[in-house]
Amino acid sequence: MLENSRLPAGDVPLILLGRYQCRFPVREDPSVPGGYRFCAGPTSPDRVYCDHHHSLVTAVEPRRARSGFHLARRAA
Ligand SMILES: [Zn+2]
Repeated sequence: MLENSRLPAGDVPLILLGRYQCRFPVREDPSVPGGYRFCAGPTSPDRVYCDHHHSLVTAVEPRRARSGFHLARRAA
């Protein structure tokens, strides 16, 4: 078996999310605290989502993105 100490990305319950891990809920799982498993991809210190989900969220909600992510928009 490979190392079992870390859960793969996309399979992490909220209680195990680290400070700089993506908090995008990828699927429901009633067996874990919170009821969802999260992406847990690497994030920047000022973000709650990984690059992939950050762009996904800002694309869907441009108004919400403007409030705190103007720097990211400029870089795109
Ligand atoms: Zn993510």
